[in-house]
Amino acid sequence: MKLLPVFTRKLSHVCNLKPYKDTKWLMPNGNPTGVYIYNCVADQRVPVILSDQHVATWYSCGPTVYDSAHIGHASCYVKLDIVQRILKSFFNIKLITAMGITDIDDKIIKKGKETNTDFRTVAKQYEHEFWADMSSLNVEKPLIITRVSEHITCIESFIKKLIDSNMAYIASDGSVYFDTSKYPSYGKLQRAQESGEPNSDHKRNNMDFALWKGHKPGEPSWDVSWGEGRPGWHIECSAMVSKVFGSQLDFHAGGIDLQFPHHENEETQSCAFHNMRQWANYWIHVGHLHVKGDEKMSKSLKNTISIPTLLESYSADTFRMACLISNYRYPMEYNLELMKTAEDVLNKFKFFFKDAYRYVNINSADHADYDYKLLDKLQKVEEANIEALKTDFDTATCVSNLQTLVSSVNKILKSDTGGYYPVPVLLTAEYVTRVLTTFGLILEEPAESVVSNSLIDTLVEFRHTVRLNALTKKDKDLLTACDIVRDKLKSHKIQVNDSNKGSSWVSIK
Ligand SMILES: [Zn+2]
Repeated sequence: MKLLPVFTRKLSHVCNLKPYKDTKWLMPNGNPTGVYIYNCVADQRVPVILSDQHVATWYSCGPTVYDSAHIGHASCYVKLDIVQRILKSFFNIKLITAMGITDIDDKIIKKGKETNTDFRTVAKQYEHEFWADMSSLNVEKPLIITRVSEHITCIESFIKKLIDSNMAYIASDGSVYFDTSKYPSYGKLQRAQESGEPNSDHKRNNMDFALWKGHKPGEPSWDVSWGEGRPGWHIECSAMVSKVFGSQLDFHAGGIDLQFPHHENEETQSCAFHNMRQWANYWIHVGHLHVKGDEKMSKSLKNTISIPTLLESYSADTFRMACLISNYRYPMEYNLELMKTAEDVLNKFKFFFKDAYRYVNINSADHADYDYKLLDKLQKVEEANIEALKTDFDTATCVSNLQTLVSSVNKILKSDTGGYYPVPVLLTAEYVTRVLTTFGLILEEPAESVVSNSLIDTLVEFRHTVRLNALTKKDKDLLTACDIVRDKLKSHKIQVNDSNKGSSWVSIK
């Protein structure tokens, strides 16, 4: 895919130059950040340009809180969390993050009726659970959380303005629809013939979509200037974003299933409301997670795995690593092979950290040598990683570069000949740790395991001494005993790696 050039000269507020064939994406005016991101409107990567190079607004569509979140939600929000952390830490952009929670919806009302619970209680319970799940995955909480139930007034005034400007009409059932015939750019994100909503006798055009749903008996409703009812789904995000960020938005994110109709409708009504040609400058859509054989993980397909169930089998770090080695835009298949690969990659790094620190503190008469070649390699990997991350957040290449770097340093750690190079080894370990923790990996063992860790250290050290003696004396029985101890440790989720310089261990799930 070809990269677009960064415009360095100043353009008018939102430029109308249309530099790309057959696209309607408008290059914003401002300062280039050096980052290129795929945008569905341009159907290619475009440069990220911000009015202030170091500040950006970001809105993510949050969950509809009618049930427990599943690993499809986990992969979406972990991947968005990784992208946010990259923008903040590698490109020095202060992100003002907001997420909308849909706490009024058909599914929530239905769940309330089924369980004989007030719909507000249902929403509160599942929103609480959602944040607990996100925290267990180390996903950072947005700075601003907007809930539909707390923004009815701003939603009402948003719709009122669209009605007054003739962009929307009140139907005979009290619903309000956006009149797509008044907006020729409809279909900017995804060309479509219909609005994605069920057809209705009350609509003037097939593509029209509901901004407001007229009151139905037995359902919660709010009294507004044109009658009773409740907000439609799409309007809530536009109204809440406009309230907190005004008429322009830098990043707008969500799962790929939201591209159409949800985001299309958001863009349409927001452009109409603000009288702009472009509202969200950068759309970020995360590919679906699916389980083998199924198209997509969803509640309606009854093929979901809850986040606590996921974390019984794998650590949050392993799941995040699976996300890092997958491209955020493409579908991700959740299977044993992917999770095993993620766990192996993570363990390779953990073993490296332990081996590196033991190497530096080794009790020997050696004096430090300097390896310029290794420092040069480190510098090249740092540059290659920045290049990968600025190219649509290519974390998979970044992790692969780190693995290559670690492999070359491991050769030094395990070599019996040659010099002693603590400085480049430590610098490499520090760099790899910094990149991985910036991606949101925790890497640390929980505090409660410190005592048991020191006992395992003692056991592994003792086994190493016994094993070296057995190797020297070619004592097969003793070597078999060492293997039994290694296998027993593995059955207790402790994986041991042997080398002549010492054995190290990591805990596995
Ligand atoms: Zn939304």
